[in-house]
This record gives sequence, C-alpha cells and structure tokens, in this order.
Amino acid sequence: MKTGVRHVASNDGLTLLPDRRLLMQGLELALSNAAAHGHYGAVLFLDLDHFRTLNDTLGHCGGDRLLRAVGARLLEAARPGDTVGYVGGDEFMMVIEGLGHDPAGARQVVGAIGDAILHVLGRPHCVNGHRVYATASIGATLFCANAKTIDEILKQADLAMYEAKAAGRHAFRFCDPALQQRVAETALLQEDLRTALDNGEFLLHYQPIVDAELRIRGAEALLRWHHPERGMVRPDVFIPIAERTDLILSLGRWALEQACIQLVHWAAQPETAHWTLAVNVSAREFRQPDFVRQTIGIVAGSGARPDRLRLELTESMLLDDVDDVAAKMAQLRALGVRFSLDDFGTGYSSLSYLKRLPLCQLKIDRAFVKDAWCNPNDAAIARAIIGLAASLGLEVVAEGVETAAQRDFLVANGCRIFQGFLFGRPAPVLDIVPQ
Ligand code: C2E
Ligand code: CA
Ligand code: CA
Repeated sequence: MKTGVRHVASNDGLTLLPDRRLLMQGLELALSNAAAHGHYGAVLFLDLDHFRTLNDTLGHCGGDRLLRAVGARLLEAARPGDTVGYVGGDEFMMVIEGLGHDPAGARQVVGAIGDAILHVLGRPHCVNGHRVYATASIGATLFCANAKTIDEILKQADLAMYEAKAAGRHAFRFCDPALQQRVAETALLQEDLRTALDNGEFLLHYQPIVDAELRIRGAEALLRWHHPERGMVRPDVFIPIAERTDLILSLGRWALEQACIQLVHWAAQPETAHWTLAVNVSAREFRQPDFVRQTIGIVAGSGARPDRLRLELTESMLLDDVDDVAAKMAQLRALGVRFSLDDFGTGYSSLSYLKRLPLCQLKIDRAFVKDAWCNPNDAAIARAIIGLAASLGLEVVAEGVETAAQRDFLVANGCRIFQGFLFGRPAPVLDIVPQ
C-alpha cells in the first residue's frame, strides 16, 4: 500500500530527494490509495524562512549544502514510508499515507510529524564554518476518500503554510475550515477593492496631533473604506489585502492627493495654515523606483507646501536597502517634505540607521504608551524612546493616548506632542476634544 517514491529514479540532482514531478505522481497514487482503502493521507508543504538572506550570506554553494542538509533533517523527522521531496527553490513537500480512518487521529499524527520537523530544523547547521539556522513554515492538509483534486490539496497546504509564516515563521499550521473561510472572505474583499477606488468608496479621516497646550499642530490622514454592503471597513483589514497587489499603489497615490488637497484648504485660512498633515506610506509604495518622482509630482501639482507634509514610514521598510532608502528620503527632504518613523519600538531598531536617515520625528507606538504610566518596563521603553529622540534632535509624538494618566506620564518625561482618543478621534473634519 505504501507508495514510498523516495528511492525511485529521477530524483532532484541537488538534494537527491524526489523532485516535483515525482512528488505529483506520488500524490496522485496516494489519493487513489486513500480512495480505495478509505484511509486518510496528508500533504505537508514546507517553505524555508528567510532562505534568500541565508543564500546571499552563505553563497550559492553554501545555500545548496544547506538545502541538502535540510532534506536530510526532514528524512529524520519522517516515518518509514512517508515521502519527502524537494519542490524547488526553498520549498519541500511531504506526502503521508496510511493515517487511518479517523480524521482526529490522522490530524494528531500529522501534528506530531509537524512538531518533529520543527524540532529537527530548530537545531543549527554548520555551513562554511558558520552556524546557521534553517527553520521552516509548514502548512498541512488532510485528504481522504472524498478525494479533493491535487490542485485543491496543494492550494490548501499552501494556504496553511502562509498562515504559519504569518504566525511568525518556524511554525506549523493545518488548513481548517476557519482558515478557508478567512481566505474566502479575503478573496471577496480583494475583489471588491478592485472597483472601490473607481466607485469613490474611500475617504480620509483626520486625527488631530496636539501639543501639551492642546494647540493643534496638524493631523494624521487615515484611510477609510465605505463598503456598499459591509459599511465602514477598517484599514487594518483592507490595507494588508491591498498591499498584496498593486492596488496599494493607486490607493496610496489617492490618499496623498487627497491629503495635499486638504493641505491647500488649510493653507487658505490663517488659523490652519501652519497645520501639518501626516500620510502613511506602505513599504510597497516606497519601494517603487519612481516613488520620489511621483510624490513630487503629486505635491507640486496640488500646490500644497511640501514642508507641511509628513510621510510616515515604518521601521521594517527602512531595512530593505539603507542606501536606497536614504537617497529617496534625501531627495524628498531637499524639497521640504519631512519624514516620521511610525510605530516606533515595534520593529527592528538599529541606532545606526536612525542616524543615517533624514528623519524629523519618531512616533512612540501605542503599545508602550498604553501602560507606561503603570508598568515599569513600558515606562523604561517610553523614556528611552523620548531620550533617544532628544539626543538625535528628533521630535517625538506619543500615539494612542487615551487617558489623562498616560498624558501626565508622557509630559513628566519630556514628551510634548500627542495623538490619541483623549484629544480627538479620526473624523472627516479635524476637531479636538475639549479637555
Ligand atoms: P497607524 O498609522 O499606526 O495609525 C494610527 C491608528 O491608531 C489609527 O487606526 C487610529 O485610529 C488609531 N488610534 C489613534 N488614537 C488611538 C487611541 O487613542 N486608541 C486606540 N485604540 N487607537 C487609536 P486606523 O485608522 O484603524 O488605521 C490603522 C492602520 O492602517 C494605521 O495605523 C496605518 O498603518 C494603516 N493606514 C491607515 N491609513 C493608511 C493609508 O493611507 N496608507 C497606508 N499605507 N496605511 C494606512
Ligand atoms: Ca501612522
Ligand atoms: Ca502608528
């Protein structure tokens, strides 16, 4: 009954494991076996974490050695009769058969194999004298007599693998109905997003940014999607979906255009002429080779003063290629546009890049503001960020300030600029809460 294609010819030349073609043949056979005998089988899809970086560091030969070593580890974790294959790139696959007639039991066995794989891949490898870790994100799905097609099985294992990546990598996930439901939901939203811009369903809300005397210094522009059936969809839901496609590019452009129009309106009134407006920029937008040219075009075309615009970047996007990031920022900075580092403290901060980039502001993430007044660890982080900003000559803004206790802590520790529900919620018109 066991198909064990492991030793059949036409193995992959690099890892000596069955290659993609052989894996597909094995899976086809496993499916018909499952249908004939009524037992469960499973497919595990493995994608190595950060393999590109490892490959760049170790060189091509080192990368190949690592892939071979990973293949050998996977065989350690597999049971006799399980098929371990190399799909290509940094992807491996396992086909497991004979998991019995009970789905819960089958799931348990596959879960144990997943754990065993995480365990063997958790040990370091020695490549070219370097100690390296090659962990993997693993997705799994079961199949049985009510046979799904091969395509469906692969798609499900792939979905679960992405879920494992999203869970922080070096993780194992099953494709279950809840996950499939979420994915289907996302697909629907993605479909609706395609036409949302043309249908005029987006709008910007503005949240005030104030100083300690409650004077408005400006605002942050926050996107809202008014979906015709679902009502207001939160940006946390739709921005990540838009970011998977080029849609984020047109959406980002639209947000910047609207923000510039708003700045022009404010500039016309003496009471509001000094207000600044912060716009969030997503990593994918910033990475576009013509990001600078396009941004300059939008700002210049609108007639907004560039020095009233703040572009909010996040730490993760600064890690890409620091020279390129710094060059792009410098070109825009030369025109007067200022940069703010958003969600500060949640990413990988490196003091050396902070010094190299023409930033004007750090925004302390809400996560640290929340309990800084009562939790000594958060207080230490908030204080350190405020001190760091001061020593680098940067402004510091506390985000997500909701209570007077939070504000008082921040004021006592030298933070002078605030944003949060205590002062005003995002709204179509900029307004602050009377204190
Ligand atoms: P963010 O840039 O960190 O924006 C701040 C978020 O914190 C906003 O959520 C805001 O409503 C919320 N917030 C402000 N004050 C408080 C507070 O006192 N308490 C609490 N609990 N929350 C507070 P929102 O509007 O839902 O936006 C979520 C995220 O979506 C933003 O986080 C930003 O990353 C993204 N986003 C929003 N608009 C845009 C956009 O135009 N472009 C891009 N790329 N991303 C955007
Ligand atoms: Ca922001
Ligand atoms: Ca933020």
